Amino acid sequence: MSNIQSAPTQVLQYPVMEHFYTLQGEGYWTGTPAYFIRLGGCDVGCHWCDVKESWPEAGHPMLSPEDLVAFIRETPARRVVITGGEPFMHDLTVLTRVLKEAGYLLHCETSGTCLLSGNWDWICFSPKKFKAPLPIWYEIADELKVIVYQNHDLEWGLGHAQRCRPETKLFYQPEWNSAHRLPAITEFVKSHPNWRISLQTHKYLQIP
Ligand code: SF4
Repeated sequence: MSNIQSAPTQVLQYPVMEHFYTLQGEGYWTGTPAYFIRLGGCDVGCHWCDVKESWPEAGHPMLSPEDLVAFIRETPARRVVITGGEPFMHDLTVLTRVLKEAGYLLHCETSGTCLLSGNWDWICFSPKKFKAPLPIWYEIADELKVIVYQNHDLEWGLGHAQRCRPETKLFYQPEWNSAHRLPAITEFVKSHPNWRISLQTHKYLQIP
């Protein structure tokens, strides 16, 4: 009997809903140029989600990491943001390895509901009420981004922050159609000064 084991299956193509060079509009790196790769697939089901087209995994072009590097090289981008959807529905090991070898700094945005894969320079963790995150994400998040749809989400965010490392950057971000919550968020941040407000500045700038 042979004792040769086959290598683990690795993902060589990913469903890419869209990819584009723009400015990061939200959170810690707001205003920083970055190449965005939005992967298809999400089963979290936020009712206020602004990218519901990303929920199905099927129906998006399948691109290899090398295809994506070729697109990114057409721009002066230094940072690449992998988002979704929920990008960790896919094994991102190969994608991050190829992008790292090409010299890019890698950021991700995740709900934390899936297993970690890949090699990251910045992890933005945005837990959602609709599907519980896995504990690992609290230990590795560089940034915690709590979306505020209703005022109760402010208190809800405090519980998540308590589970993060002390150095994790904390942001409340009003859901786009909940801008009327901004006065409440402002007062809450003033009374919880380790938090900051994040706005979706790319939407104000009318860029992707
Ligand atoms: S986790 Fe993100 S992509 Fe998925 S439903 Fe929620 S907001 Fe939309």
